[in-house]
This record gives sequence, C-alpha cells and structure tokens, in this order.
Amino acid sequence: MYRVSDWSLKSFLGLVALDLTQTVTQICQIGVDLKEFFSKDRQDPYYDVDHTVRQSVKSIERERDGLCANLANVANSLPLPSPPARTRLQLCPSAKRLVDGQDDGYINYIDKNYLTNVERELLLQSGGAFQYWKCPNCKLEIKFYVRQSQYSTLLTTREIRKCGKLTIREALLAKSHLDQRHRPASHLKYACLICMANGESLQRDRTAFECSRDLTRHLHEKHSERSLPDLIMRELRFVGRTTREENIPYDLKFA
Ligand SMILES: [Zn+2]
Ligand SMILES: [Zn+2]
Repeated sequence: MYRVSDWSLKSFLGLVALDLTQTVTQICQIGVDLKEFFSKDRQDPYYDVDHTVRQSVKSIERERDGLCANLANVANSLPLPSPPARTRLQLCPSAKRLVDGQDDGYINYIDKNYLTNVERELLLQSGGAFQYWKCPNCKLEIKFYVRQSQYSTLLTTREIRKCGKLTIREALLAKSHLDQRHRPASHLKYACLICMANGESLQRDRTAFECSRDLTRHLHEKHSERSLPDLIMRELRFVGRTTREENIPYDLKFA
C-alpha cells in the first residue's frame, strides 16, 4: 500500500503555502488595481469577491499573512523526514546465484517426523531420500527429494511435483526466496521472478508471498509461458508444455 511520507506531506504543505501566498497576492493586486471600480470613496481600497462581502485590501493581506504563518507552523511541527521504511525485501543473494546456475547451499538431514504421510509412502515405495537444501546466506530450508545419484542436487534432481496445471521442481522455490535476514515482521518468503523481471516492486500477495502455495497459485493465475521473452524464460528455466525434460531441465513448466 502506498503511504504518503512525512517528507512528502511537508513538501506538499510548503507548496500549498507558496501557492496561497501567490494567489492572495494576486487578488490583493487586483483589488489595488481595481480600487477605482470597487471603492466608494476611493480612499479605502477593497476587493469584493462576490459583491456581497466587502473587505479591505489591508485586511486581506492580514489574513494572507496569518494563513501562511499557520501553514508554516503546521509544516514545522511535522516530524522530521525519516528514511524510507526498512522493510528491505529483496531476493536472497544465493537465490540469484542459483538462477546463474551456482549452487553453494548446504544439505541437511530431515527427521522422518517432518515428512508427510505421502512423502513417507514415497520412500517406502521408491526408496530415495528427502533432504533440506539450506541457504548459505539466510538459512532458509527447502525440502526436496532425490532418488538417482547423478541427479541428487537441488538443481539437478529430476523429481517434480504438480501444482494444478504447473509442474514444479523445488529449485524454483530456492531461486525465488527472499532474504530471510531482512524480513522482520513481514513473514514473506518467496517472490515471483516473472513479476520481478518485469520491474514490479515487491508487495505482499501481489509479487511476494508467505508460502509456496501462494506463489504457485499466483504463477498459475497470472502468468503463462509467454509472460516474458523466450530468452529470459529459458534463463529462468521456465518452459511451455511442448518442452521435453530431455531437451532442457526446467524448474517450472506451464501446461
Ligand atoms: Zn537465502
Ligand atoms: Zn508474477
């Protein structure tokens, strides 16, 4: 939500005061210039705005000075300009490195108590292992599944999951994660890389989300394989329905 800062308010009031001064000065000038037309005795110039209230130029000037002084008092009593709010929502440095293909995360063991029933069933049926990828910068952990030795890292695992019409590899979450060192009260964890590539700012529930479900729902509803130029989509490992895994490993596939 856009908020007018104290600084903006103060500047705005200053402009209003300046404007009023100029306007009233002009009115006074008109009053002086036209005093011959409006003054009965031509000794006491006044300006009659609507021909019902007659006011002397001196009194208009007094009101102007009083008004400007009041505005100046209001402006001066406002708190001093403060620096922009330090929400500092930003993509984690390691997320950016992942997008460039560099994975310097750590692998952590997951206690089975932290697995869902579906995940335990998968282990029973297919073997493999669930593990955490841990961010080297902000310590965020992403759970992912590996089965084949040669594809056992976050960026290479062939394991995917379906989210509605989307197919997702968990690397997407790691690549989209916000720096958790700078998210004090926001609890926002993931950003939409497509929106960011389009130059949009990070805003709760519009481009930044608390959980992976909200991020994938956003991707599902707001974007398609044509959201960005092909080159950038390929760089992000986002592909369309016709792409085959053998041709290009992807992190997000639009159906
Ligand atoms: Zn991180
Ligand atoms: Zn988006």
